[in-house]
Amino acid sequence: MPVILSVRGMRDLLPEDTAHWQAVETTAAACFARYGYAEIRTPMVERTALFCRQLGEHTDVVQKEMYSFIDAGGEELSLRPEATVPTVRALVENGLRRGGLERVWYGGPMFRRERPQKGRYRQFWQLGAEAVGVADPVIDAEQIIMLAQLWNDMGVQDKLCLVVNNLGTADERAHHREKLRTHFRHHESQLDDAARARIDGNPLRILDSKNKSVQEVVNTAPLLANELGTASQQHVASVKNMITGAGIDFVEDTTLVRGLDYYNLTVFEWVLKDDSRRQSTLCGGGRYDGLSEQIGGPALPGCGFALGLDRLAALVDKASHPAPTCYLVTTGGSDSYCTTVAEQLRKNGLSVWRHVGGGNLARQLKKADAMNTALAVIVGTDEESAGEVTLKRLCDGEQQQVLTSRVAETAAMMMIQTG
Ligand code: AMP
Repeated sequence: MPVILSVRGMRDLLPEDTAHWQAVETTAAACFARYGYAEIRTPMVERTALFCRQLGEHTDVVQKEMYSFIDAGGEELSLRPEATVPTVRALVENGLRRGGLERVWYGGPMFRRERPQKGRYRQFWQLGAEAVGVADPVIDAEQIIMLAQLWNDMGVQDKLCLVVNNLGTADERAHHREKLRTHFRHHESQLDDAARARIDGNPLRILDSKNKSVQEVVNTAPLLANELGTASQQHVASVKNMITGAGIDFVEDTTLVRGLDYYNLTVFEWVLKDDSRRQSTLCGGGRYDGLSEQIGGPALPGCGFALGLDRLAALVDKASHPAPTCYLVTTGGSDSYCTTVAEQLRKNGLSVWRHVGGGNLARQLKKADAMNTALAVIVGTDEESAGEVTLKRLCDGEQQQVLTSRVAETAAMMMIQTG
């Protein structure tokens, strides 16, 4: 029988990975909490319509990457490709609970049918945060400062750099798109088929074409920066002032548009400085003031970001996998006595790996050693009849026979003695 393997682009996280991931998640949750962000958990399945217009009909995510299906009841549903839209939906549906400004964070798997490669998967994990309810640039700056703090907490601050851009308002962008269309139509003969097909739908996508002749047309295209009004300019200038004041370096990049359609004003990305890695964006975010209304909610400005946990976990140094404290070895002790001893140790906070599969004492102790365990707990017939166990410290062979009632206390003492 051929082995049934996992689905392409979807991978297993083994215990040594999950221990590392949990450490990263715990650090992030603690950092977000210091800024007043509370955790929200939304479903992994949503109505397909929730994503289509909000992410953008012409984006790759909506056009080719969604895992969509018709449910038995005839409803069109999709696995979530991201969690900003679901989070805003949840806040609209349940109402803002904290005085007109909600700060929430989330973590969990997202699904996009992209071409898999290192750092890019079809099921990947994101951690993100959203602040919904106010349009103040203080929020945008606070999130960027919070992320800079998170990189410090993770020890990766020197590996990343911040890129910022101003996307203006929806009206300013519409105006710019119209100018782009005119420009590209004017130079249509220099465009390739892919670029030509995008003029009407999403001319912005032409800006990142890799074709040399298209790039020449792009180089002389009208800039969004020239369409921005005073209010838009002041908003992002104020964000930049605050982050500069917090000691955060950044570069401005007018080509940073972000993949999804709902953004306006401030957008930012944290990218790996070592861009020899192909998937170099670790985190992206920005303001989305029109999103709530687009999904039928009240006018609720918002700002948020998402970071790729697969990529962050790969960047953070892995702490060594903690070994169990005690390895329980049996040389004739009964199963029920061994269980009693193991539970006694666990109740006192020690971790116990119970040997299974037989073998003589030497073989079992070898396994205990291989696992890097501190103590072997030896349960033989003599020990059992005396209501005792033998504790053997594996680093120096020191051993003591003690009553079961004193096993946890003695084990703790023997570990302290070796530091
Ligand atoms: P986005 O929601 O596209 O703005 O992505 C935010 C972050 O999620 C990116 O910067 C990546 O770190 C991560 N990410 C997005 N797509 C993938 C993917 N297919 N595989 C792994 N990580 C991803």
